[in-house]
Amino acid sequence: MKKVLFYQKDTPKNQIDLWNNKLKKWYKDFKLIRLDDPEASEAMIALLWKAPMDQVFKFKNLEAIISLGQGVDHIINDMNFNNNLSVYRIVDPYMAKSMSHWVILSILNYIRDYDGYRNQQIKKIYKSRNFLDFKNIKIGIYGIGQIGKVVAKDLNSLGFNVLGWSRSQKNYKFLKSCYSSDGFNHMIENCDIHICLLPLTRDTRKIFDKENFSKMKKGVCFINAGRGDHIVEKDLISFSGSKIKLAILDVFGEEPLPKTHPFWENKNIIIWPHVSAETNVETAAKQVANAIKLIHSGETPDNKINLDLGY
Ligand code: NAP
Repeated sequence: MKKVLFYQKDTPKNQIDLWNNKLKKWYKDFKLIRLDDPEASEAMIALLWKAPMDQVFKFKNLEAIISLGQGVDHIINDMNFNNNLSVYRIVDPYMAKSMSHWVILSILNYIRDYDGYRNQQIKKIYKSRNFLDFKNIKIGIYGIGQIGKVVAKDLNSLGFNVLGWSRSQKNYKFLKSCYSSDGFNHMIENCDIHICLLPLTRDTRKIFDKENFSKMKKGVCFINAGRGDHIVEKDLISFSGSKIKLAILDVFGEEPLPKTHPFWENKNIIIWPHVSAETNVETAAKQVANAIKLIHSGETPDNKINLDLGY
């Protein structure tokens, strides 16, 4: 029986059994084994989420890694990444929809001042509050990939004016396509709500820094569900409450966010614990099982990562 290495950080111990049961529905010819199993070195494929990569790289029979999330920065941003390995990822429409729901929730709460009404209720105040008219709002999404394009389409269907930044020009009816540094600057200078849905690569790391925050209009909303390292956290803090009226963050440089981190005390920052679009074993299992099967038979599954680009 072929061995497949399994490691998923911060999940219950029996997560391996859950994956095993769901995967076996689609493909049976393998055995999932833990990183510390004596047989781990025999594995040709690894299913990983935030694994200690230095340990993984010791297994010389390994040929392919499948990310158990849609991002792959936890695998290839490792300094010691071995380019002889192929990397694949999950691309699950369920996750894109979950992200879209979370972004819509965040934006509607923001423009209709949900928190303001909750506070009024505590004080038994019955009066209308100012709100931002959706017709006048420009939403910029950075990263129009498998997730960003679903978010853009759904926001557009709610009547929002959406702009999207990507490396390549897009031809979607539901957004204005922006690319290159001119496109980036156009969005950063003109949008009222900024949403980061980029992959973390050498080109996008710390992209939201002092220089770029300072180009934003006064009083914007900034949402980050990409990765914590897309922003310079101290720069966000210095602009929060002035340029950045509200920041809604689902990802952080260090996760879990340390209890001493200044974000916790900042009333202009809303913290979510990396839950905007979690991997769903039920919906992802079929494609992961299929990828294992194809690799075992010497074929190339979909969703292969371009290691030069980093996504
Ligand atoms: P994807 O399909 O790979 O799309 C990436 C997008 O970013 C593409 O539009 C790409 O442009 C653009 N891009 C990449 N590098 C760029 C650069 N240097 N300049 C301009 N645009 C660039 O990724 P995805 O599946 O949508 O996922 C995006 C990210 O979301 C993941 O990598 C992960 O970090 C994050 N995520 C977070 C959660 C969560 O729970 N918070 C869950 C899932 C994923 P092109 O279209 O031109 O290639």
